[in-house]
Amino acid sequence: MIPVIALDGPAASGKGTLARRLAEAFDLAYLDTGSLYRAVGARLLAEGADPQDGEVAAGAAEALSPSDLQRPDLRSQAVGAAASVVAAQPRVRQALLDFQRNFAAQPPDGLAGAVLDGRDIGTVVCPDAPVKIYVVASPEVRAERRHRELIARGESSIYPQVLAEIRERDARDSARSTAPLKPADDAVLLDTSELDIEAAFEAAKRIVVEKLAAAKAE
Ligand code: C5P
Repeated sequence: MIPVIALDGPAASGKGTLARRLAEAFDLAYLDTGSLYRAVGARLLAEGADPQDGEVAAGAAEALSPSDLQRPDLRSQAVGAAASVVAAQPRVRQALLDFQRNFAAQPPDGLAGAVLDGRDIGTVVCPDAPVKIYVVASPEVRAERRHRELIARGESSIYPQVLAEIRERDARDSARSTAPLKPADDAVLLDTSELDIEAAFEAAKRIVVEKLAAAKAE
């Protein structure tokens, strides 16, 4: 049994921070799968291409190189929005699937397992993962977190606009027909609306310990 932790949830739910910390705590490799979709979106924006164009988006996903994952604008709002547009294209998802599955099956650096965070890790990428956590928080709480994060990074941010974008991204990610955002049937729901990062991390750690012990006992 490879200890794979699938961490899914909507934009700005805090899953990235949790995933990174869980990987550190359990000595596992970490893959932020959103960065793959962001890299495709960023590449299209840089080329002046239309992210809605399925052919062009698929071409960019198929040609993705490690340097695309180092783009400085990867975390911007514009790139996040473009990522969610290209992520609705089945060919884009297909092009990125093998990389994600290989990462989970053969984690880099000789590590025993991996933490992957995204939207469809528990449902599509790693349906057999022994640990699946679906992180949620209200749209208002997520918008507030994202707003503060953008300000801290020195970007301009207007809260009502961030909230509107979060709602828009939730709607697009949930409504798409290929790999929509939804919890796997066997995922544990973790609502972080009322939790600070430490409390959320402790709760996630408990879930991991319990699920890994159950998987070993099987
Ligand atoms: O998590 P992050 O905000 O970086 O993801 C950017 C976008 O990439 C999401 O809005 C979503 O549309 C897409 N995505 C996805 N499947 C994943 C990870 C991200 O569709 N596993």
